[in-house]
Amino acid sequence: MNGQSGAFDAGEQVLVIGLGRSGIATCAVLRARGATVFATDEKDPELLAEVIAELGRSGIRFIPPASLCAWTQRLTSCVLSPGVPLNNELVRRVQAARVPVYSEIEVAYRISRAPLVAVTGTKGKTTTTALIGAMFARAGKTTHVGGNIGNALITETFTAKPADWVIAEVSSFQLESIRSFKPKIATILNLSPDHLDRYHSMDEYGEAKFRIFANQGPGDTFVGNLDDPAVGALSEGDAAKRIPSRALWFGITPHRNATLYLRGDRITYAPPSGDPRPVEIMPLDEIGLVGRHNVANVLAALLVGLAADLDPHALRAAVREFSGLPHRLEHVAESDGVLFIDDSKATNPGSVVAALESFDRPIVLIAGGKSKRTDFRAMGQAIARRAKAVVLIGEAAAEIAGVVEAKRTARATSMDEAVAIARALAVPGDVVLLSPGCASFDMFSSAEARGAAFARAAAGLAAVHG
Ligand code: ADP
Repeated sequence: MNGQSGAFDAGEQVLVIGLGRSGIATCAVLRARGATVFATDEKDPELLAEVIAELGRSGIRFIPPASLCAWTQRLTSCVLSPGVPLNNELVRRVQAARVPVYSEIEVAYRISRAPLVAVTGTKGKTTTTALIGAMFARAGKTTHVGGNIGNALITETFTAKPADWVIAEVSSFQLESIRSFKPKIATILNLSPDHLDRYHSMDEYGEAKFRIFANQGPGDTFVGNLDDPAVGALSEGDAAKRIPSRALWFGITPHRNATLYLRGDRITYAPPSGDPRPVEIMPLDEIGLVGRHNVANVLAALLVGLAADLDPHALRAAVREFSGLPHRLEHVAESDGVLFIDDSKATNPGSVVAALESFDRPIVLIAGGKSKRTDFRAMGQAIARRAKAVVLIGEAAAEIAGVVEAKRTARATSMDEAVAIARALAVPGDVVLLSPGCASFDMFSSAEARGAAFARAAAGLAAVHG
């Protein structure tokens, strides 16, 4: 190994592992900073031919995995794309050669001149990240939004100026391999069972999320959700000592430690310092998003904005103007008084429970897909309380059927069939809700593709019923 590791500039010879969108973006940023960049990926080189040629044109050399050992001696550092786990074989080989390995968000953080807001949680990350981005922009800040939300964080931090803000959506996978990543403001929205195919236990999953505040200091802020048992437990006793930054708490239900809470139907802020008199931020009915879970997301975003000293009027305006994102309780069609709601991004049972609690009309649910070794019992109970019928699809259909009364379930082998069955079970005034509680990859290329198939089928029916 030679050169100085960790600056990611002209002195460095960096290997990027994983040539998905973020990996390619990482290569481009490191090259623009003057580093000598190499790239590798386990995928079939034929499938990567175009990417490899494009990288070559920018002076980035592709190293086939089989030749990696011949190159490791000259590397000063290695950067992992977000999708590449630490126990990946190529990563192990690089580590065995004593080359320091960094995750993409770590590098994004190190090169950033702007302060970062980092958002994590089991569910609500993308919605809340987008809302926080809208708030900072509404308050007049030049704002860069990136990370899990879709565009590589490193591209955003590379272009951000010191007076700007970077709003980052980060997953537990990305947090696992951070070293000095230190957001100015960090929030954990909630922790419910998910990804237990990757983590051995909820504790291990929670610990990965808790890394979001691990490097923070007294000048930073942590924003936490008191209504979530695992996150709220950090607000008291010895557990509170784990948070090295100023901790601000929000809750929908009343809590003694809450800085942002509901007083009647009004969102109210008790400033943590200075004049402690509560300030009304906004009434609940100005929130354009449906569901109590979205009230929690809004509270998190507002408290982040307040922690950054943004103008409360701008925050309120941003909430009022925010109408949500596609495939998250998105109203996609209506026919004969039946509403069709696409919640394809509900990929764990917790988000299905949240969706079922969001409507006061009878619901015909379409659920199922590829299970992530999760427990469907709570989802079964919510179905029993809220859904009049369930149409099951995909690999997990039998497993979900096991937690739902048989007389209320039907099976379908395609989205078109599922929508047709659900429509036949619905009457005017009902909701047909796609909220799968599972990943999409058994039948679709992505959750977006699954949602699009649902919306197409629903629009088709709406046209027929005209
Ligand atoms: P993430 O990025 O964490 O997956 P999204 O904002 O993309 O979260 O929303 C994904 C799914 O989770 C959607 O079905 C949405 O309705 C649901 N959801 C959003 N916020 C919450 C929350 N706070 N609790 C439970 N479910 C939520």
